[in-house]
Formats: sequence, structure tokens, C-alpha cells
Amino acid sequence: MSFERPVSFGYKRVSPAEKQRLVSDVFESVAERYDLMNDLMSLGTHRLFKRMTIEMSGAREGSVVLDLAGGTGDLARLFAPVVGNSGCVVLADINTAMIKVGRERLLNQGQAQVRFCETSAEALPFANDSFNCTTIGFGLRNFTDKNLALVEVLRVLRPGGALLILEFSKPTNALLEAAYGAFQTLWPSMGKLVTGNSESYRYLVESIRVHPNQKALKLMMEDAGFINVEYHNLLGGTVAIHRGVKSGAMRPATSQGNTTARGENNGASP
Ligand code: SAM
Repeated sequence: MSFERPVSFGYKRVSPAEKQRLVSDVFESVAERYDLMNDLMSLGTHRLFKRMTIEMSGAREGSVVLDLAGGTGDLARLFAPVVGNSGCVVLADINTAMIKVGRERLLNQGQAQVRFCETSAEALPFANDSFNCTTIGFGLRNFTDKNLALVEVLRVLRPGGALLILEFSKPTNALLEAAYGAFQTLWPSMGKLVTGNSESYRYLVESIRVHPNQKALKLMMEDAGFINVEYHNLLGGTVAIHRGVKSGAMRPATSQGNTTARGENNGASP
């Protein structure tokens, strides 16, 4: 009999398999209205944070980029013109419904160069040293095994490549924390109105509260093997961008080289 350590699903402790199923249900149920809810809950600020993440990524013409937990494609869409036709963006996500919305949205916008891969962050189907940079936008909280996912990202990054984690974090000021906490109590009702589902947004609030704070996440990245780890607080620490690097010298950015997939779905191959 195997014993699996329970993991957090919001305030609950559940088995890893149960968390994966519950997180999948959450995103399945909100996929169609996910983008609208993001705008409402963040008052549009997530768009600015995503642009900042792209700026900090160091991606440029020819870069090969992995947008992990890419969902409906906000970051992938911003990366595409930066890496150009000689580069490549792979949007990887565990959820079929989120990928479907992202794929349709990007195709409607004429961005055919983004490739899609349905995979769990904990077992990436890419060869070692494949990507110049990886982003995880508001995804890490939902992962079943965050440490394993960080080790996987390190493996698929090229030496010198950077991981950027854009995630909810801990407000730095008690007054702001109280005000933000009050605003968050509205999210389940807003979720009910917009998506017909309040439970998913209750989970969202809980998952933010149990997520590691800025310093703890920095340590997790260092434990996974990232170097030069730093973080930048946004909106008083309600959100933070963590950046860490895989040690070694960066080779020139190119979508050629040894970038090979290990059997990802949807025809994606960086
Ligand atoms: N990055 C997008 C953004 O910033 O708008 C989407 C973020 S959404 C809050 C979180 C995404 O993480 C969902 O699309 C979900 O399917 C994905 N996800 C959750 N657990 C995952 C896992 N273990 N591996 C890969 N993706 C996962």
C-alpha cells in the first residue's frame, strides 16, 4: 500500500490525486469566462503585471519560451511578437478546456506560431535544456507538487535561462492586507454572477491565503536549484514576480539546436 502525503486544496488537505481532480474541475468550470473574471478581480491590473513579466524575462527575437500553466494564453500572446518567426512559444497546461479557449483566442488573433501542449507541470514532456525562458502566470498555487514542478522547469531550461513566476503573494502592509482581504470576500459572489460558480472563486481566495509568501517561495526556488533568485512586489505585495536563473552560460537564442519534445500532445514541438 502506498501512502501519499496530503497537499493543500485551499484550506482543505487532500490526496495529490484528489487535488489534481479538484483543480481540473475548477478550471473546467470557469474556462469560458476566465478572462472576464480576471479583469474584474484584478481591476485590469493583471494585464500590466503580465507585460512586466515579459519585460523581465529577457526574451528576444529567436527565443524559445515555455509558458507553463498558460491557460487562455495571455502571456503566450504577448511573447509571440517578441520572439518573432525565428523563435517559438509553447503554451503548456494540464486543462483541456483552458487550452481550447486559449487556442481559439490566439487563432482568432492570427497568432498561429504559439504551440500547445497538454501536460502536467510535474512531468514535462520536453528534453533537458530546451527553453531560453519559462513563465508561470498565476499557476504555481494550483500545482499538485510545486517542488517537483520547479525541478522540472530547471531541467528543461537552458543554462542561463530564467524562470519567472507571477503569482499572488503576501501584502507588505497590514492595512492593505485588511482592505484587500475585504475585496476578496466579494470574489465568490462575483464568480457566481459571471460564471455561475462561487465555489471555484472561494477556492481561489483560500489558495492565495495558503500560498507561500515572497521569502518562502524564493527559498523553494533556491532549493530546487535556481540561482540569483529575486522578487519584486507589485501593488504592495498582493502580487509578486519571482525570477531565478539556471546556472551556466546562456547559448545564443535559437529555436533550432537540441530543443526536442518528449512526445507532447497536440503536435506541439518547440
Ligand atoms: N497563466 C494564465 C494566466 O495568467 O491568465 C492562466 C492562469 S490560471 C489561474 C492557472 C492555470 O494553471 C490553469 O489553466 C490550470 O489548468 C493550470 N494548472 C493547474 N495545475 C496545473 C498543473 N499541475 N500543471 C500544469 N498546469 C496546471
